[in-house]
Amino acid sequence: MEHPENSEQYKGLKVNQGVTDVPTVNPYLKRRIQRKSYTPSEFVEGILKRNITILSQAVTLVESSKYEHQQIAQEVIEKCLPHSGRSVRIGITGVPGAGKSTSIDVFGTHLIREGRKLAVLAIDPSSERSKGSILGDKTRMETLSREKNAFIRPSPSAGSLGGVARKTRETIVLCEAAGFDTVFVETVGVGQSETAVHSMVDFFLLIQLAGTGDELQGIKRGIMEMADGIIINKADGDNVEKAKLAAAQFRNALHLFPPTESGWVPKVLTYSGYYNIGIKEIWDMVCEYIRFTKESGYFDYKRTEQSKYWMYESINDTLRDTFYHNPVVEKMLGFTEKQVLSNEISSFVAAKRMIDLFLDDLAKR
Ligand code: GDP
Repeated sequence: MEHPENSEQYKGLKVNQGVTDVPTVNPYLKRRIQRKSYTPSEFVEGILKRNITILSQAVTLVESSKYEHQQIAQEVIEKCLPHSGRSVRIGITGVPGAGKSTSIDVFGTHLIREGRKLAVLAIDPSSERSKGSILGDKTRMETLSREKNAFIRPSPSAGSLGGVARKTRETIVLCEAAGFDTVFVETVGVGQSETAVHSMVDFFLLIQLAGTGDELQGIKRGIMEMADGIIINKADGDNVEKAKLAAAQFRNALHLFPPTESGWVPKVLTYSGYYNIGIKEIWDMVCEYIRFTKESGYFDYKRTEQSKYWMYESINDTLRDTFYHNPVVEKMLGFTEKQVLSNEISSFVAAKRMIDLFLDDLAKR
């Protein structure tokens, strides 16, 4: 049928016939390469040969919340465990803008030049809410991401902080089995995820800034107490003196804390990530700590304590998941919550009822 806008009145404009047969399948979809799925043994073999593609896929399984993925992941982790444990694990924290990515890029590249193999992992508590990670993004560490001996993985994004941290803990096992002898676990210093990171690393590094005028304010005492080393970034240009002053203040503040369990006296250093000044000294400090704690036996003691901690964390996680995914619990939880909200029953009675329902259901199975 002739379109009215093709009439003389609208000359210069031509309306074409529409397409009647709309394609229902995106032709490009066909060309998508199907990912090969591996058996647990193939995964382990690939990881031990340091096949980065296979390692990445295994990490994806670890991060997945699908039951069948977890089955494979747990088998892979178990088989990798005997090949793990031989790395230096370093936790790195600092508020946004402290210079974590710049520093990791430079520090990491320094280690690669020394012949080390580095995995950079992240725990990002913000990803739980925003569904987007602000840490571990490859583009933030440009030099490092081009190194073949570096493996950078953003934070797992799904689940609770505890769940995310556990996945990172498991990823460490895979990276170590793949021959990475240094592991960085980065987290944003806002006071939630530090404990989780502290419980999976040998050395905890706190990045601080000078010249903000409130050096010691806003730093959670707990975080400072966890630090084995405090490094003051941006000690360059006009900032050098301020950084030195801040270092002195931190040293004084550390004296007020009780002695550390390891007997190690935390060190305070100044450096510039951007201008690559003082980086070697940071690594020397880490090495000195490792030597010190290995000699005293604290290094191994801490690792076994961490294993114990993660055993209980896993039990807690699994119990919580099993409870909340139980069909009876899922059915009754909303109703019971309403009863609590309308003051019909107390929170404690409600909790007991839910647990009883759960246990009854388990007993019937
Ligand atoms: P992050 O949020 O902790 O990862 O911090 P970034 O590494 O993204 O750094 C935040 C800002 O500080 C960026 O603009 C960097 O260029 C700058 N920056 C990082 N390290 C240094 C440094 O050593 N000296 C100076 N002057 N600026 C730095």
